[in-house]
Amino acid sequence: MYDVIIIGGGQAGLAAAYHLQQAGLNYLILDAHARIGDNWRKRWDGLRLFTPNRFNALPGDKAFPGKPYDLPDRLAVADYLEDYVRRNDLAVAHMAEVVSLRTTNTSAPTRLAQDQKPSSFSIETTDGILREAHNVILATGAYRTPRDLGFAERLPQQVKRIHTSEIEDPASWLPVNAEKVLVVGAGASGNQLAQTFVQISTARHQNLQVILAGEDPGTLPRKVLGRDVYDFLYGLHVLPLKVDSMLGKVLAKAPTKGEIRVGESVDVTAKAMSIIRRGKLSVVDKHRFEFETGDPIENIDAVVFATGYENRYPFLGIPEALTDSGKPNHELGVSPVRGLYWMGLHQMRRINSSLLGGVAKDAEEIVAQLNKSYKAH
Ligand SMILES: Cc1cc2nc3c(=O)[nH]c(=O)nc-3n(C[C@H](O)[C@H](O)[C@H](O)COP(=O)(O)OP(=O)(O)OC[C@H]3O[C@@H](n4cnc5c(N)ncnc54)[C@H](O)[C@@H]3O)c2cc1C
Repeated sequence: MYDVIIIGGGQAGLAAAYHLQQAGLNYLILDAHARIGDNWRKRWDGLRLFTPNRFNALPGDKAFPGKPYDLPDRLAVADYLEDYVRRNDLAVAHMAEVVSLRTTNTSAPTRLAQDQKPSSFSIETTDGILREAHNVILATGAYRTPRDLGFAERLPQQVKRIHTSEIEDPASWLPVNAEKVLVVGAGASGNQLAQTFVQISTARHQNLQVILAGEDPGTLPRKVLGRDVYDFLYGLHVLPLKVDSMLGKVLAKAPTKGEIRVGESVDVTAKAMSIIRRGKLSVVDKHRFEFETGDPIENIDAVVFATGYENRYPFLGIPEALTDSGKPNHELGVSPVRGLYWMGLHQMRRINSSLLGGVAKDAEEIVAQLNKSYKAH
């Protein structure tokens, strides 16, 4: 029986493991992938982070490797996470995807307040080992299940389509004879991919129109008063703001929902790179694509859905762990199910809870709370 099992070995799970190890608890990370960092390795070639190295370090580390203000690529993050596990000697079971998580004390009601009698959990994984733990930290990632807006099934059969979570190499995915590629969603991923397609078509001398659909989410400039804007976002304590503080609540409810995007505005970049802009995709009718703003476009050859994520937890057999709409049921990462905690959720405790620079503090606090409650029983 483990004191704690962590489900998910991304940055959130690793940060929690670091603090559990410091606290002397007997824990294990279960991860679905073969190698730590595979989640980042599978993201598309060319992906660059928007957060500079200086603000990407995990607990116990002074800095992320490289120059402080460089923006790492996906492989640098993957390698950093893998190296972090090795340096800190964290306990991980690989290729161990959790297929079932339940409470074991079936005689007790599953809705146990955090201050009631300890519960325990049984965890089934694809490696065939049944494990038990007194506590579980769910850290399966805030950006995992592609959000499906229902357009994909309405596309004509010959239109190539993909969600950003599945695209690994944009150059080999983009058909060489494509004349129009549509990117649906103008957030950080959609914007970056639209630019990547322009670069690919220029390198190939391909006659390609790149269309980017979605509202310009608005961005902060990368440099403010000659300094990287993240110096201010961290220095003035904006990103680490607690979501239950007065200012945190205001920021989380703002039209941007606390999302802070940095760099050139989508419209400015689009203009500079001859990317055709449209509003949100509203109708797909055979070969005709209509948008909330701008003229319809016909005969698009390929579509990338940069529509974000919504998370599902099919393995979670504890009804009280989720809300009626299937979202994590928690207060600042603490579940109403005794012994169950979350990590890495979007704005879980702080504005930056799901970012590399945000998991350290959350992990420290969640583990302190877990340890206190565990030792009290
Ligand atoms: C395109 C993109 C760009 C981003 N850019 C930045 C950036 O610039 N800066 C920044 O700070 N953040 C960025 N993020 C946000 C965030 O840092 C990443 O999404 C990060 O991967 C989240 O880490 P995590 O540990 O919460 O989850 P993940 O990295 O998703 O890790 C979750 C782990 O859980 C495992 N898992 C899932 N389900 C199970 C299961 N049932 N059983 C066992 N294991 C399971 C997976 O194998 C995976 O290894 C970006 C995200 C995306 C999608």
